[in-house]
Amino acid sequence: MKISVLGAGYVGLITGVCLADLGHEVVCIDVVPEKVARINMGMSTLFEEGFEEKLRRLLAEHRFRASMDPAEISTSDITFICVGTPSQQDGTLDLKYVRQASRMIGEALALKDRHHTIVVKSTVMPGTCDDVVAPELERASKKCIGKDIGLCMNPEFLKEGTAIFDFMHPDRIIIGGNDDRAIQEVKDLYEPFNCPKMEVSLITAEMIKIAANSFLATKISFANEMGNLCKQMGVDFRQVAEGIGYDARIGRSFLRAGCGFGGSCFPKDVKGIAAEAKRRGLNTTLLDATLEVNRRQPLIMLDLLEKHMSPGDKTIAVLGLTFKPNTDDVRDASSIMIVGELLKRGARVRAYDPKGMDNFRAVFPEITYCSSVNDCLNSADAVMIITEWTEFSAPEQYGEKLVIDGRGITRTNSYDGICW
Ligand code: NAD
Repeated sequence: MKISVLGAGYVGLITGVCLADLGHEVVCIDVVPEKVARINMGMSTLFEEGFEEKLRRLLAEHRFRASMDPAEISTSDITFICVGTPSQQDGTLDLKYVRQASRMIGEALALKDRHHTIVVKSTVMPGTCDDVVAPELERASKKCIGKDIGLCMNPEFLKEGTAIFDFMHPDRIIIGGNDDRAIQEVKDLYEPFNCPKMEVSLITAEMIKIAANSFLATKISFANEMGNLCKQMGVDFRQVAEGIGYDARIGRSFLRAGCGFGGSCFPKDVKGIAAEAKRRGLNTTLLDATLEVNRRQPLIMLDLLEKHMSPGDKTIAVLGLTFKPNTDDVRDASSIMIVGELLKRGARVRAYDPKGMDNFRAVFPEITYCSSVNDCLNSADAVMIITEWTEFSAPEQYGEKLVIDGRGITRTNSYDGICW
């Protein structure tokens, strides 16, 4: 198939490159010229193991490229919407990029005389496809959804750091829609994948994605709350997590306590659905608690540090800036609150992260960025581990320095852990 993808960010680029690798001809369309130019030169705009090699091979084989030209939409058979849906001040999702993308697609399809299928992959609040995407598409194209244009919702569940593997080996594929022809096209596209495939309505597909992220975030906040209690009672939560995780009803994944979840999805999606519920007059006691536990968790790292020393006028080495290892993404990372609080409390911050320093510099240009763990520890009075990068685990490198461990990946002589 000829596929166009709107948005060459994390989801769009991975989707585009993986679909090209499956044998399709793909163009990723973005509005940022530098991004498009870099991608076409074979330079990855995101950090993902093995991605750049794949990108270069597919560019050379003319199966994948990036573009800024929306006219490319009409020469494709199917278009994916993978633009961002960031949080707004009141917690609701900002749909301006989704609106823009829908309008661009509609305008491009106005002159097309064949059927075209549009697939929303961006995470959106339940109801968005029907209430926002469909009307924008119909208005701009002057065509009819269900007749000339097919609309599906196909949420993406990939995880940054293992994005290619996750895309190629999904646990399930959800296809929302009510147009048989469009659903069949999306099913054909995913034919090589051997996993459960669910056909549901548009709004159900939207809700499945939001509910999945809300559940996972709640599981982490549960682990953190139990972990905080364990710490108070002299129990190592890591053993408790293992002990309860063997129960198949509970499961071991997403049961790690630590200094909080971040990233571009969990915080915004939970805030988004909680705001939507409130707009409908419903209470979201559990989701509010999930967010509140997560808001406090990075601050507990500061309390731990202050138990040992006052950070004012001290040099603190911060190890790990990304929201998790194996990505360069620092969006909503716990490091942002921790570094902000350290500075407020008068500390000097030296930071090191194998991949996230360029992105973090845009948030905190004023701190000292270091070239290695060793360099970062140089002259530091204490160390805070915020992300569980493997290179932070060797205990010898810390000597007798105080280590405040937010992820439970090392154990040194002078040590305090957040939930153990
Ligand atoms: P991103 O910010 O990395 O990328 C979005 C891209 O869309 C940007 O490159 C931007 O320039 C581009 N864009 C904006 N308006 C456009 C337009 N009108 N036409 C073409 N391009 C346009 O975002 P992301 O992390 O890829 O997330 C995209 C969506 O997927 C979000 O809704 C997110 O919640 C969801 N999602 C993300 C992940 C993840 O791990 N990042 C996983 C699953 C789902």
